[in-house]
Amino acid sequence: MEGTLVRRYGGFYYVESNGQVWTCRLRGRFRLQDAAFLPGDRVIIKPVGPGEGVIEDLLLRRTCLERPAVANVEQAIIVFALGEPPPDLELLDRLLFLSGVKDFETAIIWNKADIIKKEFQDLPGIYRQIGYRSLVTSARTGQGIDELKAFLTGKLSTFAGPSGVGKSSLLNAIQPGLNLRTGEVSSKGGRGRHTTRQVELIRLPKGGWVADTPGFSRLDLPSLTREKVAGYFPEMLPLQGQCRFTSCLHRGEPGCAVKAALDAGRILPHRYEHYLAFLDEIITGERSF
Ligand code: GDP
Ligand code: ZN
Repeated sequence: MEGTLVRRYGGFYYVESNGQVWTCRLRGRFRLQDAAFLPGDRVIIKPVGPGEGVIEDLLLRRTCLERPAVANVEQAIIVFALGEPPPDLELLDRLLFLSGVKDFETAIIWNKADIIKKEFQDLPGIYRQIGYRSLVTSARTGQGIDELKAFLTGKLSTFAGPSGVGKSSLLNAIQPGLNLRTGEVSSKGGRGRHTTRQVELIRLPKGGWVADTPGFSRLDLPSLTREKVAGYFPEMLPLQGQCRFTSCLHRGEPGCAVKAALDAGRILPHRYEHYLAFLDEIITGERSF
């Protein structure tokens, strides 16, 4: 039987197959490589007793995320707050870029709608205009939670974003009874409270999974060739092939369609700035080979 590894704990592997969770051990030949099994992995199990089984095989992984350690992630839910902490747009654009490179589906969740700060109120519309799914929520009032559930249905998703924006609160809101600990906004950033916990996949009522451990808030850019960077900025995508030079990197070359769109206000200055910053990082990475 084929199933999804949901959780590992104390030498046991919990595998969901045909709507039931099976408590499994690894077949002998796998025991030395148990670190190779991650939540999200598709496995073949053989029942050996009521609710008990043995993992016979590991199916090919499509993707692998390190933080949190989850296999076969299909969607990144990128969470920011419309108030406290104020959204860091460079981090947002970086997460969107990374998510694109990893070929994840993406949605931006703008949380804390109940304490929205005026200066941020246009951001959801701005990012929707660029081409991203962009949803306003409040974990406190329940606004947008049904739409968030609809985004999650049928896929394996992970939450990402800085600490204090409400990721744990949103997970609790979509899955009452989960009781993830939520905390106050901390200035420490980075190291989450859940880093030492084992990742567990939560089964959603209408199908799909979500990792209960938010992550990937800070990541280095992947190795990528410089010509590919603009392809991960949706607003630059339709301009591909329209610059005078086919090798144009949109850094001030003559006859650049991206620069023209920037001057015409069709590309936002902060997006263009972040494009240049990521491009620089990618080029620096190329040199270190
Ligand atoms: P995480 O670090 O991203 O997991 O954020 P938490 O879920 O721990 O939330 C950080 C703080 O923001 C907690 O004090 C939450 O109660 C609060 N919070 C989360 N969502 C909302 C919201 O929609 N509105 C308001 N006003 N506060 C929220
Ligand atoms: Zn160009």
